[in-house]
Amino acid sequence: LIRFDTVTKRFGSNTVLDRLDFSVESGKHVTLIGPSGSGKTTILRLLMTLTQPDEGTITVGGEKLFPAPEKQVRELRKNIGMVFQQFNLFPNMSALRNITEAPVTVLGLSKEEAEQRARELLELVGLADKWDARPTQLSGGQQQRVAIARALAMRPQVLLLDEVTSALDPELVAGVLDLLRDIARTTDITMLCVTHEMNFARDISDQVLMFDSGRIIEAGPPERIFSEPEQERTREFLSAVL
Ligand code: ATP
Repeated sequence: LIRFDTVTKRFGSNTVLDRLDFSVESGKHVTLIGPSGSGKTTILRLLMTLTQPDEGTITVGGEKLFPAPEKQVRELRKNIGMVFQQFNLFPNMSALRNITEAPVTVLGLSKEEAEQRARELLELVGLADKWDARPTQLSGGQQQRVAIARALAMRPQVLLLDEVTSALDPELVAGVLDLLRDIARTTDITMLCVTHEMNFARDISDQVLMFDSGRIIEAGPPERIFSEPEQERTREFLSAVL
């Protein structure tokens, strides 16, 4: 479903991704791990077209996301949802409106259809009674649940999760991870996930990619990567975070 072919991304003289090749099959859950600054977030940002590669090709469902005409990019982007570390909800909108906004403006759903879908999703994330609350009236965990519902409201094929629990108070982390475990188990959505929560990664991943300095230095199923890493660098990293 997703394919990176010799993708290079530089910021000035800093090569953040170095001729990166990898692919993700439809319905699979892939976790990106590795030290801070190794390029994990940049991969998600490239898929969201928030930034562009300097070299290489990115395809989604066999169609080029880069390089590609703008219309094609807009269409492909509809298939991809992202949840950010800092929630990034629209501050002046209710939870419900945060969720209905894109389905109405981007997918052209009627307000009624979008609200129906939003209420089902608020139910799914355990916030049915908070539909009218503004982000400031919600806890961090609740805001992140709304952000997850907002991403799912677009019925994306791909969900990108960027350290979605890093900004949460410790007691709120488990609830959000349990919700994501449920989504991983009960939907056929393809997930690409940057996380430092290794137990979560172990539970949901089909494959773990270990990054270092803009390259994948090791890839495999979580059971192997976490218990028998082949690379010294992976061992060091895991012993620091586990
Ligand atoms: P973290 O876990 O800290 O988020 P990461 O592996 O996700 O790390 P990236 O956020 O992808 O790493 O960043 C990779 C490198 O790119 C870092 O050295 C970072 O400083 C640099 N970088 C990212 N965005 C920009 C930008 N907009 N301008 C300049 N440099 C950037």
